[in-house]
Amino acid sequence: MKCPFCGFDQDKVVDSRESKEGESIRRRRECLRCEKRFTTYERIDEIPYMVVKKDGRREKFERQKVLNGLLRACEKRPVSIGRLEQIVNEAEAFVIDSPERERKTSEIGELIMNRLRNIDKVAYVRFASVYLDFKDVQEFLAELQDLLKSKDAKEAAARLPEKGKPAAGSASKPKAGR
Ligand SMILES: [Zn+2]
Repeated sequence: MKCPFCGFDQDKVVDSRESKEGESIRRRRECLRCEKRFTTYERIDEIPYMVVKKDGRREKFERQKVLNGLLRACEKRPVSIGRLEQIVNEAEAFVIDSPERERKTSEIGELIMNRLRNIDKVAYVRFASVYLDFKDVQEFLAELQDLLKSKDAKEAAARLPEKGKPAAGSASKPKAGR
């Protein structure tokens, strides 16, 4: 396992712990060169869990994608990576909890927005601007009015993606007939 700090590829495992349900093993490793510690998770690669996009397409649920979206929303914000990891874990648990083994991206987005709203308003607005559908925009604008009373949100509004620019990740294409 390559060290995330210095890139060295040899380490020793200093702690190994199975999750409560026994579905993953968490290993604490120490780099043999820089001696910094990092964590890896081992999971069984089984049938994937899916997300259903707005246009009906399905794709594999990937923790890394969720995390990437959160990292973008939280760029330069005072939100710890541990906090984001918790949100990713919650999103994953939500998907795994589905008897159909799949969830709509809008449902996952909503869960994440609810968490972000309580953590960081700017990150929340950024994330919402990517996730919301056209029909939700009025509702969202109403909420923005409330948020705009805070200084943070003014900053966020100024940073919303420009019109016409394709938003990253889960952005939907305009629906036919509109
Ligand atoms: Zn290292």
